[in-house]
Amino acid sequence: MSKELMNVKRDNLKSKIKDLFIVFMIIILGVTIIFFSFKISYEKRISKNVNYDQSNLENNSIIKEDIQVSKQNQISNNAKEENAYEKNITEEKSDDEKIEKEETKVEDDFNQLLPEWTDTAIEDIKNIYGSDEKQVYLTFDDGPSKEITPQILKILEEEQVPATFFVLGKCVDNNPDLVKQEYEAGHFIANHGYTHTYSQIYSSIDNVVNEYNQTNESIKKAIGNENYDCHLFRFPGGSSGGPYDSLKAQAKQYLADNQVASTNWNCLTSDAAGNYTVQEQYAGAIETQGNKTSLIILMHDASDKRATPETVRLLIKHYKEEGYVFKNFYDIFKKTNTEIVENVEYVKDIN
Ligand SMILES: [Zn+2]
Repeated sequence: MSKELMNVKRDNLKSKIKDLFIVFMIIILGVTIIFFSFKISYEKRISKNVNYDQSNLENNSIIKEDIQVSKQNQISNNAKEENAYEKNITEEKSDDEKIEKEETKVEDDFNQLLPEWTDTAIEDIKNIYGSDEKQVYLTFDDGPSKEITPQILKILEEEQVPATFFVLGKCVDNNPDLVKQEYEAGHFIANHGYTHTYSQIYSSIDNVVNEYNQTNESIKKAIGNENYDCHLFRFPGGSSGGPYDSLKAQAKQYLADNQVASTNWNCLTSDAAGNYTVQEQYAGAIETQGNKTSLIILMHDASDKRATPETVRLLIKHYKEEGYVFKNFYDIFKKTNTEIVENVEYVKDIN
């Protein structure tokens, strides 16, 4: 073998060894990478379990690990759910507290709407007629009714004007929601007896008082306020005159002695006595007003008083233009009325 050939063979051998070495190194590298990947993955699994159950780490078959991982996840999910649940409860609790607070606030607001008897109430009511003030008490008797009361409430809301509703107990029982609406809107709920049947209510003083009380109970139930008492009665047909004049006078005194004032009106649309169109009713009010500037206007929100709502709209427009102030009987039975109306949105702008 020539020296040259031997050199070639040695070179080939060297090159093969080099190739083999490279392949070997690649294999080593590969194995190392695989080993470390498994190691990292394994350590990850171990570390996942380390807080869960140390003793189980010793038996670290993959199945067990998987079970543990799954258990761990389950527990952590449960924990999450429990946390979420607790969070919900806390949130619900704080919501409840919020609602409770709001309810208390609403209650406070409405408790402010409780009429309060004052020793001057009867005099104050009498003085309305003679006052120089340009003021209007819009009053509605014989309701509420599904047909008319909602229309009137809507107009009062649109016009931002307070009113007084002399409700009939039997109508309150039929339409408690409407009474609640009237009350919550800041209108004054007053008492007009239960039956409106003269022969019945005026058969004795006791019956007048009973109808007052019965209606008062109906109002309480309707508005959801056990403490409500309006202290204000309007005798059906008025507090004097007619065949029951004497009994009415005695009943009026009896009620006054028991902190119940009464009021009639000094202006009326005659919507209960044959004025069936808006123009007739409006003209009736202007006519009966005469020279008076301080008015308690009698109207009705019974189911057949179809022209009354639009008459109310016209009257409000007229008295606004004339610079009148609209009031209700909270002005008598709650001297802090200006504070109350702050809680009642649409009355707010009046004062
Ligand atoms: Zn009436």
